[in-house]
Amino acid sequence: MREFSFFMPTKLVFGQDVVKKAGAGLALGKKALIVTGRSSARLSGALDDVLEALSGEYVLFDRVENNPTGENCQEGAELARRENCDYIIAIGGGSPLDAAKVMAVLAVNEKSPLELYAQGWEKKPLPIVAIPTTAGTGSEVTPYAVLTIHEEETKKGLGGPDLFPAVAYLDPRYTASLPLQVTIDTAVDALSHLVEGYLSNRASSASDLAALQGIAVWGGVIPALRSGDISLQVREDLLLASMLGGITIAQTGTTFVHALGYPLTYFHDYPHGRANGIFMASYLEFTHAHAPERVEMVLELLDLPSLNAFRELMNELFADYVGKLHVPEERIRAYAEKAAQTKNVSYSRGTPSVEELTEILKENIL
Ligand code: NAP
Ligand code: FE
Repeated sequence: MREFSFFMPTKLVFGQDVVKKAGAGLALGKKALIVTGRSSARLSGALDDVLEALSGEYVLFDRVENNPTGENCQEGAELARRENCDYIIAIGGGSPLDAAKVMAVLAVNEKSPLELYAQGWEKKPLPIVAIPTTAGTGSEVTPYAVLTIHEEETKKGLGGPDLFPAVAYLDPRYTASLPLQVTIDTAVDALSHLVEGYLSNRASSASDLAALQGIAVWGGVIPALRSGDISLQVREDLLLASMLGGITIAQTGTTFVHALGYPLTYFHDYPHGRANGIFMASYLEFTHAHAPERVEMVLELLDLPSLNAFRELMNELFADYVGKLHVPEERIRAYAEKAAQTKNVSYSRGTPSVEELTEILKENIL
């Protein structure tokens, strides 16, 4: 018999000018810690809208790095404590949104970031308002934060039901300032969430609902991604697909695509979505042997005639990157061994062995 649960407590507000329209309702407390990266909150126009809407007090932390570390989150958490902030407004891509979640925990729990992985936390994190400026991670609707862990030379996800933001405001206009390659990288992250969630062995009827709609929406933007002509309508579809991808993985987690992507980000500076994109075609080919109907449904919704056509799409979107990375064989084996230890691999249909992961890595980055 089927057995599943579905928990997604984030209030969603999607549309043009949703932040301005929220007005004083944007505040969840007396004093906000506004968390952003160095430039995206300003470039996107989101910070201006927040400051216009917000009548209460705030303090700004605008130093979140890409692929943030625990130390980076500690800095923000200390500021929140010093300034007595009682909620967080996070603006940006997955990096600021994830960092804000960890800051929310550290601001009220006397622990180091590494202790959070080992021991969890007791006190309820500060509530978060999440405002995405990329259409990719879906972090605004997930209970995860991914940090760079230098001690383990990798990236690692932290999860907990109280890491869901309380409210997410999604305005597609905030993604209009994204350069084309970042638009593509992040769009492929959204696709990987939708597809990995749908093909995960943890998929349920409820998570499929979000995944299937999201894959269909993503299929509709393929011509625009190919041509590079990204209209506001396309931005809206991408933000919707990204949100649906987040809702999906909030239930299912991700699979081995993400586990193989982390070393490309950690050791080779590949942005997260691109690192996933490099392995997506091989993932679909591997999974086809274990769940052919599901893989064929993905292709149908994307309006692609074959697995080969999917590979061609990825090759086209990442033309400057596919086949360009040449990693020595002994390192490839080490990447496969580390990936094999992750939960992501155990969530993958067919649960690939170290040998199978090594083959997939070789196929794409030898
Ligand atoms: P990101 O690292 O947040 O941002 C990438 C770059 O794009 C940054 O330089 C950023 O500038 C810039 N940028 C962001 N929005 C912009 C805009 N509107 N206009 C112009 N530039 C903009 O990228 P991301 O792909 O969104 O997030 C990746 C992170 O999320 C990774 O750490 C990944 O592991 C994590 N992730 C989390 C989840 C989850 O469920 N929580 C899921 C998947 C991935 P700034 O320097 O100003 O920020
Ligand atoms: Fe991701």
